Amino acid sequence: MFKRIFNKFSKDLGIDLGTANTLVYLKDKGIIINEPSIVAINIRNDQIIAIGGDAKKMLGKTPSHISITKPLNAGVISDFEVAEKMIKHFINKVQKENLGFLSHPKIVIGIPLDITEVERKAVEDACRSAGAREVFLIEQPLAAAIGARLPIQEAIGNLIIEIGGGTTEIAVISLSGIVTWKSLKIAGQELDDNIINYVRENFNLLLGEKTAEEIKIKIGNVFIGDESKEYKVRGRDLLSGLPKEITLTSKQVKEAIIKSVKKIVEQIKDTLEETPPELVADIYERGLILSGGGALLGGLDKLIIQETKIPVQLADDPLTTVVRGTGIVLDDFDNLKEVLLPINQKNNLS
Ligand code: ADP
Ligand code: MG
Repeated sequence: MFKRIFNKFSKDLGIDLGTANTLVYLKDKGIIINEPSIVAINIRNDQIIAIGGDAKKMLGKTPSHISITKPLNAGVISDFEVAEKMIKHFINKVQKENLGFLSHPKIVIGIPLDITEVERKAVEDACRSAGAREVFLIEQPLAAAIGARLPIQEAIGNLIIEIGGGTTEIAVISLSGIVTWKSLKIAGQELDDNIINYVRENFNLLLGEKTAEEIKIKIGNVFIGDESKEYKVRGRDLLSGLPKEITLTSKQVKEAIIKSVKKIVEQIKDTLEETPPELVADIYERGLILSGGGALLGGLDKLIIQETKIPVQLADDPLTTVVRGTGIVLDDFDNLKEVLLPINQKNNLS
């Protein structure tokens, strides 16, 4: 009885709770939230000042009483209280902006592959205390593969590589399940750190993390010959303490990040080595799919093709693949519920 009433009035939500970005899909509406996973807190009174894009703008620019928190680290919740508040904030926002959306939604949410039972439960609990009626967990690469419209339910080898801010997940999927996988903590943010370190060591210049990310996005390329783009950046000179401007080239950026990127490529090769030959044959024939924001790194596709000899396809709009996957699961729930992780049923009301 209650279930029927709930189902009539509440709209379901798909969530990609990423280290870098949180996205929310509302059934029948599409993606309605796409914000950085960042929260600004006034530590004097413990009040939240800003969440998402507004908080990201404050990065590196705060006085001492404002702390900028990223509640996720390498794909897992590192600050439960803040994560819960952030999810609550986003759900409330959906509620306010969408008539017909009643509270207590059913939620399908992506989680990384390599997480503990406790970390998994933290995601579930955060959703529940943010008002969810039912919570279903899905492994992120599976959601990404569904979002990329791969035939994951068939007996075909699908290789998906999801490169986010904090983690890279490599997974071979067949018959709705993950056959072989690797999860590594080398992803977008590590590349930003590489750039910060490189510029500090070679130019005695201290860059902020937002600037480092900007450099990576604007001129980062891991497959360049002689052609090289340039980009002017400002930071603090470590010797004089004064502001200084330098011009970086994409060649230098490649030098800074290539070691980390090669580690990702090595893990792709290792995963293939562990994958049963029939599935490997499918992958060589059909190619692999790159998704997540990190997949947009210049030249990454070409480098992977060169190193693995496998055709590479970039997912459409790779920053939204996971959340679109959760949306497809909601839209076709009965057919796709087999991809969801077993959950603690007694916690779900229906
Ligand atoms: P997460 O799922 O961990 O939140 P996302 O899939 O949202 O991560 O991807 C965010 C990461 O992608 C960030 O590290 C960001 O710097 C990186 N990114 C976004 N666009 C680009 C680009 N054009 N080139 C390289 N990296 C990018
Ligand atoms: Mg992600």
